[in-house]
Amino acid sequence: MNSEEGAGYTAPITKAEVPDDVQDAIRTLIRWAGDDPEREGLLDTPKRVARAWKEYCQGYEEDPSQHLSRVFEEVGGYDEIVLLKDIPFQSHCEHHMAPIIGKAAIAYLPTDHVVGISKLARVLHGYARRLQIQERLTAEVAQAIWDGLKPRGVAVVIEASHACMTARGVRTPGVNMVTSKLMGCFLDDARSRKEVLALMGYS
Ligand SMILES: [Zn+2]
Repeated sequence: MNSEEGAGYTAPITKAEVPDDVQDAIRTLIRWAGDDPEREGLLDTPKRVARAWKEYCQGYEEDPSQHLSRVFEEVGGYDEIVLLKDIPFQSHCEHHMAPIIGKAAIAYLPTDHVVGISKLARVLHGYARRLQIQERLTAEVAQAIWDGLKPRGVAVVIEASHACMTARGVRTPGVNMVTSKLMGCFLDDARSRKEVLALMGYS
């Protein structure tokens, strides 16, 4: 799927059927949390929660690397770093199913072709809309760009806050986790690495 109507655009799931066992599971969770799933305010909650989870996990419906399948060969001699930064994203941690909210910077040093810049964000969202750990999300985005574009270098830096840490457990709001994955020249060459990290604002 190469078109703009590709895998990134899934039909709204607001009308999706929610199987009884899924609703029952959410009722069980409400009861376990200490409330009564039969009280009025909670009656439609199981359906809403189920649909919301389908939406949070939409990434399972797609292969994010598909977004990199259409490249532009006319780059007019451009051979410098391409960087998309401050890309907001949401994910959920696989340990608590709690929100991970953050931003990513994705850069690559092209060989002889580039990709539409929005595709980098689509790759990120394709992997973020799953149950994740930030380390794997970072590595998956970098690997997809490395395999899909065969660039000279890839750098992905993700900065995010984890609700499982800020809203529960040690309750430390304002704490961000930073992960990075550097490949090719950004890994091997100190000058390239310095340049890309400076462009991203990490220097
Ligand atoms: Zn967690």
